[in-house]
Amino acid sequence: MYKQLLSPLDLGWTKIKNRVLMGSMHTNLEEIPGGFERAAVYYAERARGQVGLIVTGGISPNEEGCVAAQAAKMTGSVDIEHHRLITKAVHDEGGIICMQILHTGRYGYHPKIVAPSPIQAPINFFKPKEMSEEDIERTIKDYVNCALLAKEAGYDGVEIMGSEGYLINQFIAKRTNHRTDHWGGNYENRIKFPTEIIQRTRAALGKNFIIIYRLSMLDLVEGGSTWQEVVQLAKEVEKAGADLINTGIGWHEARIPTIATMVPRKAFAWVTKKLKSEVSVPLIAVNRINTPDVAEEILADRCADMVSMARPFLADPDLVLKTIEGRSEEINTCIACNQACLDHTFQLRISSCLVNPRACHETELNYLPTQHPKKIAVVGGGPAGMAFAHISALRGHEVTLYEAAPKLGGQFNLAKVIPGKEEYAETIRYYESMMSKYKVNVCLNQKATAKDLIDNKYDEIILANGVHPRSIDIEGADHPKVVSYVEVLQNKVNIGKSVAIIGAGGIGFDVAEFLVHDTHYDDDIRSFLLEWGVDDKYTDPGALKTPVPSAPKREVYLLKRSTGKHGATLGKTTGWIHKASLTAKGVKMLADVRYVKVDDSGLHIEIKGETSILAVDHIVICAGQEPSRTLYNELESMGVKSKLIGGADEAAELDAKRAIYQACHLAAEI
Ligand code: NAP
Ligand code: SF4
Repeated sequence: MYKQLLSPLDLGWTKIKNRVLMGSMHTNLEEIPGGFERAAVYYAERARGQVGLIVTGGISPNEEGCVAAQAAKMTGSVDIEHHRLITKAVHDEGGIICMQILHTGRYGYHPKIVAPSPIQAPINFFKPKEMSEEDIERTIKDYVNCALLAKEAGYDGVEIMGSEGYLINQFIAKRTNHRTDHWGGNYENRIKFPTEIIQRTRAALGKNFIIIYRLSMLDLVEGGSTWQEVVQLAKEVEKAGADLINTGIGWHEARIPTIATMVPRKAFAWVTKKLKSEVSVPLIAVNRINTPDVAEEILADRCADMVSMARPFLADPDLVLKTIEGRSEEINTCIACNQACLDHTFQLRISSCLVNPRACHETELNYLPTQHPKKIAVVGGGPAGMAFAHISALRGHEVTLYEAAPKLGGQFNLAKVIPGKEEYAETIRYYESMMSKYKVNVCLNQKATAKDLIDNKYDEIILANGVHPRSIDIEGADHPKVVSYVEVLQNKVNIGKSVAIIGAGGIGFDVAEFLVHDTHYDDDIRSFLLEWGVDDKYTDPGALKTPVPSAPKREVYLLKRSTGKHGATLGKTTGWIHKASLTAKGVKMLADVRYVKVDDSGLHIEIKGETSILAVDHIVICAGQEPSRTLYNELESMGVKSKLIGGADEAAELDAKRAIYQACHLAAEI
C-alpha cells in the first residue's frame, strides 16, 4: 500500500519522487550565530531520509513581516549566501527544498507590524499600523523579490504562506480587513492580495520553479471565510499559477485545537477532500498525520495528492526511509505534545523534539560508535531508562535494563491512558523495538537490588528508577477516600461520582481529564469536531458552530494552594486547551485553597478565611513527586558509584522532555 506514496506525481516536475512533504517548521536556527550551518545539517538529514519535498521555516519578505525583531528575512543578496548552505546540503543528498515566504502581519512580535486594518490580534501585545496602498504595492514586490532571491539561493521553489491568520489571511477575511479601497470590501477585492503575489511571482520566476500556496481551508474564527469563498480562492490561486495548494487549518488565535495531541489523527483531511473535486491543482493534506498508515489512508481515500508532516520529521528524520524499507516499527513517532518544538518556537528558543533531542542539534549531539565498550546496568524502564539504554546500546555498549513492572514505559504507561494522550503508547512501542534491535538485555518484573548490581560487576550503573508520588500531610490523609493519582490511572480504585483533586500541575489536569471523559477521541473525529464546535458541513463562515461537549462523567474540583490562574505551568501552546476542555466539562477550579482535613463528610477547605466542605466521594492526590533514591543511597553506602537520570535525579517539575534529553546526552558521552 505504501507504494502509493512512492509513485511519481503526475506533475511537470518529475523530480518529486514521492508524496510526502516535510512541512514548514520554524526552528529559530536561522536567527542564531552559526545557525545556518546547523540548519543545513538538519535539513540534509531529512533529505537523506528520502522525504519528497522539504519546506523551510518561514522567512519574511521584509522587515515589517518578521516573526520578531531581527528574525529571519530575505531582502537582499547578503541573505543569499547563508541560504546556499542549506540548499547545497539538501541537493547533495538528492532532496528538493522550497523556502516558505511568511509575512506575519499583525502576528509579528515587534513594534513595526502592519496589517490591512489597524486591528490588534487578541494574541499579540503589539498593535499593527494600517498599510497604505503604497505599502501594499511595495509588499507584493517584496514577496516577488524574496522569491527571486530564494531562487538565486538555490531553492527549488517557494511556499507562499496564506493561512494560519498571517498577513495574507488577514487580507482575505472580513474579520481583519475593514478597508474600503480596492483591497477591501467584497471578496474579489480581498483575495487580490494573494492572487497578485502568485501571478507576479510566477511571471518573474517562470515555469521551472515550484510555487506552493498555503490556503486556509478552515479559519475557525468568527468573521472567517465561507466554504464558497474558499473554493473561489482555490480556483483563483490555481489560475494565478500555483503548482500545489497546501492546506492550512485554523488561525493562531482560534480557540480550537488543531495539532495538539488530543486532536484525532487526520482530523481535518475531510476538508481537503471536500476541495478535491473543485480544482485540478494537486492538494496537500496536513495536521495530525504522524504515521505512514495515516498518510496512506488519506491518499487511498483520495483526500489529497500529497501529505505534509512537519513535527514527525523532528521526531524521526528517517520516517520515509524506514517505511520504504519495511521498518515502520522503528519509527520514532511524533506524539504531538508540542513541548520541545512549538513551545520552544513561540518562546523564541531553538526548536527540538521531546522524543528526539538531536532534532535541530545534529551538529552537537551525535551517537558515535564507542571505542571502549562497557558493561552497563540501567535500572528503570521509563522514558529516561529506555532512552539511555537505546542510545548506549546502539553505540556498542553491552546493556542490561532492569524494570520492576511487567512492562516497559514507566510514567508513559500512565500518560497513555489519559483521553487525548493515547499517542504516548507510540513512544513505548518505539523503544521496545529499539531494545530488541540493539539487543538490550531487558529484565522485566525484576527489581534490581544493590547486590545484583554489585555481583554482576557492571562498569557503569545508571539509575533511572523514577519517582514516587508525594503524600500530603493533613489530618485524615489516611482516610479511605484519599487515593493517589497512580491508583486512579491504573484503575485500582472504583472512583465515585464526585472527586476533589489536590494539586493542579500537569498530572492534576491529566487526572481531571481522565475523570470527566467518557470516551477517548483517538479514532472519533466526529466527537472531537462536535465537542469543539467545528462545523463539518461548513455552513457558516469560519466553519464554526456552537460546541456540544458531552456530559462530564463526574463532578470534579481541581484545587491548588497557590493564587493565580489554573494552568499557568502547562505548555505554552497546549495549556489553554487543557483549561478550555476542563471548563467545558464543568470542572470547578479553586485557587488559594488551604486543605484542613478529610473525614467521612469529604474534604474540608478554607479559602480567604472561609471554610467549607466539599462533599466528595474521593480525594485524589496529585501533589507532585519525590525522587526514588533508596537504591542510590544503598549503593553509595557500599562505596559503589552510580549515575542518576530522569526523575530519580531531580523530581521537581520533572517532565519527559528533560528526562529523555538528559538520558540521550549521558548515553552519547559514556
Ligand atoms: P507539579 O507540576 O509539581 O504539580 C504538583 C502541584 O501540587 C504543585 O504545583 C503544588 O501546587 C501542589 N503541591 C505540591 N506539594 C503539595 C503538598 N504537600 N500539598 C498539597 N499540594 C501540593 O507536579 P505534577 O502535576 O505531578 O507534574 C509533574 C511533571 O509532569 C511536571 O513537570 C509537569 O509539567 C509534567 N506534566 C505536564 C503535563 C502537561 O503539560 N500537560 C502533564 C502531565 C505532567 P500548589 O502549591 O499550587 O497547590
Ligand atoms: Fe512531536 Fe512532541 Fe517532538 Fe514536537 S516535541 S515533534 S510534538 S514529539
